[in-house]
Amino acid sequence: MGKHLLLISTGGTIASVPTRQGLSPCTDDSLLRAACQCPPGCCLTLKQLFALDSSNIQPEEWLQLAEFIASQSGRYDGIVVTHGTDTMAYTAGILSYMLCGIHIPVVLTGSQIPLGQPFSDAPMNLQCALHAAASPIRGVFLAFAGKLMLGCRAVKIRTCGMNAFESINYPLIGQVSLHGLDIYENALPTPVHQPFRIQVSDRVFLLKLTPGLDPAILDAVMALGYRAILIEAFGIGGVHFLHRNFCQKIAQLSSRGIVIVISSQCLYEKSDLTQYEVGRVALAAGAVSAGDMTSEAAFTKLMWLLSQYRERDEIIQHFVSPLCGEIAFP
Ligand code: ASP
Repeated sequence: MGKHLLLISTGGTIASVPTRQGLSPCTDDSLLRAACQCPPGCCLTLKQLFALDSSNIQPEEWLQLAEFIASQSGRYDGIVVTHGTDTMAYTAGILSYMLCGIHIPVVLTGSQIPLGQPFSDAPMNLQCALHAAASPIRGVFLAFAGKLMLGCRAVKIRTCGMNAFESINYPLIGQVSLHGLDIYENALPTPVHQPFRIQVSDRVFLLKLTPGLDPAILDAVMALGYRAILIEAFGIGGVHFLHRNFCQKIAQLSSRGIVIVISSQCLYEKSDLTQYEVGRVALAAGAVSAGDMTSEAAFTKLMWLLSQYRERDEIIQHFVSPLCGEIAFP
């Protein structure tokens, strides 16, 4: 029997038209409807949830989107979400956690060139996402430029090129070939069975460390009510402590129950705070390594955990435990 698929549109370039204010998502979904090529025998339902540039997709929209997917997941065999590319990795991250345990595929996609424009990459991306949604995989994925990636491992790496997303520190889940969409089942993380936890906190701050940055910046962040800080540090996880002692500030905040996680400014591989003195001092001060997680996956995991737990130790314990493929087993 053919599969029942649902396509939820949220806006982005894929749904955009040129206006006097620049490219902007429109509410007319006729182009999208016409461009969807489902696998044979499948039937497709379209639902427009938003018509937003993804820069305007924030925790409020994540909650609405996740609630809607959860409410429809019993009625469809697979769900495609069309989304702007700019923040798609964040949405893929938070949905991976909120909908952890989902028994169907949820596949995000978008495009660099709007539907209907010459050379648009939208039809190919949609086709790949629809085929993935009709496949027997489960979890949250991102389909782009012929590649199927685990949602919590995808990062946007190009502003203009068609090959805009990459799976970081994790093999592809599938790829388009002469035979269609090949799925690599060995790459799928072990499925988890747990009820959905659709909640999020916006009290996580992402800070990119720069040479000479004044540690007092963290006091300013605290004054705004943030409760967790993700620091993109240097290389494998270096934090300065000469001239301006950033590590001392980390120790002060950690002792006040603030969660401080260190990831790397490098896209590939991992942070490891045990390698250098500049990492060990941060580790001794109470910082935790994000391991091989992407910043997007680490940031959204903290947002999700912060909404559920109060205690620093509890948040950290869950943060470093693999859930849906976002972090390698220690
Ligand atoms: N600004 C657009 C968005 O993220 C870019 C895109 O979709 O490619 O909504």
